[in-house]
Amino acid sequence: MTGTATGTAQGDAPLLDVRDLRVDYDVAGAAGWRRRALTVVKGISFTIAPGETYGLVGESGSGKSTTGRAILRLADVSGGTILVDGQDVATLGRRTPLAYRRDVQAVYQDPAASLNPRHRAGRALTETLARHGLGDRDERRRRAAEAFEQVGLTTEHLTRYPSQMSGGQLQRVAIARALVLGPRLVVCDEAVSALDLSTQAQILSLLTDLQSASGVSYLFITHDLGVVRHVAHRVGVLRGGELVEQGETRQVLDHPRHEYTRSLLAASPASHPEGREERRAERAARRAVTARAATAGATTAQEAA
Ligand code: ADP
Ligand code: MG
Repeated sequence: MTGTATGTAQGDAPLLDVRDLRVDYDVAGAAGWRRRALTVVKGISFTIAPGETYGLVGESGSGKSTTGRAILRLADVSGGTILVDGQDVATLGRRTPLAYRRDVQAVYQDPAASLNPRHRAGRALTETLARHGLGDRDERRRRAAEAFEQVGLTTEHLTRYPSQMSGGQLQRVAIARALVLGPRLVVCDEAVSALDLSTQAQILSLLTDLQSASGVSYLFITHDLGVVRHVAHRVGVLRGGELVEQGETRQVLDHPRHEYTRSLLAASPASHPEGREERRAERAARRAVTARAATAGATTAQEAA
């Protein structure tokens, strides 16, 4: 294979095509009264193919979430273009069309924060479907139940309150809500960062399975190189709003070209090439956990996560 260190997906026309993206925030100046533009994303370019996972890594404050927010149209784009399926997102107008919201969904770090504590979990999905004018009441309930099943929850979970569910279960609800609309792209912003290691492994393999089944693409934002190695086909390394390096995950993590990538790897023992043996053992342990969860069956699925 050639061109492994490029920002371009091989083969398929990209689903997401980000070109020279710049995002400025309007912040208070030194004196506290004069506003000034702070550029936090400084002209980055990358693509994501249909069915592909692109990992965006970097330290806290490097501009990862801002990049995701720009793609979700939650942050204003100051320069460059974002194309989804060839369409320039800037032409969509200020109010994001429902069709775009269906196509581009998000899963965040803290699922509890995006679920209403007074609503039963299933309602997060039926309300999302209602907002998008999809199906009648029965149809929405049926689709919510189906989506719960796809993420390893049971119909019993539909009527639980968030306080009655574990972190892993809540993240499954958030994933079900994102996927019930049949998106083309899901921005996963630190989606497993708050979970313990074995739950992390289960959620990551769930996301991978759902991708295989649906062909959805992921922009996987994380500060954790171990997570990136696990899920991303390609990876981009962001530092101070600039992509210092990108390419196929193995290429970048095993043969980093940029000094900054090397320093990130050095600070992350689990994903360092020298930690390969430990990683292998860890992966085997994760597989065992996932296998146990899978064979435990639907009745105990709630205990597994
Ligand atoms: P990351 O997700 O990589 O941690 P962010 O995209 O959240 O980084 O933030 C990038 C930079 O932009 C940081 O310096 C942060 O403080 C700043 N920032 C984020 N959101 C805002 C905002 N709404 N207004 C001003 N500055 C912001
Ligand atoms: Mg962030």
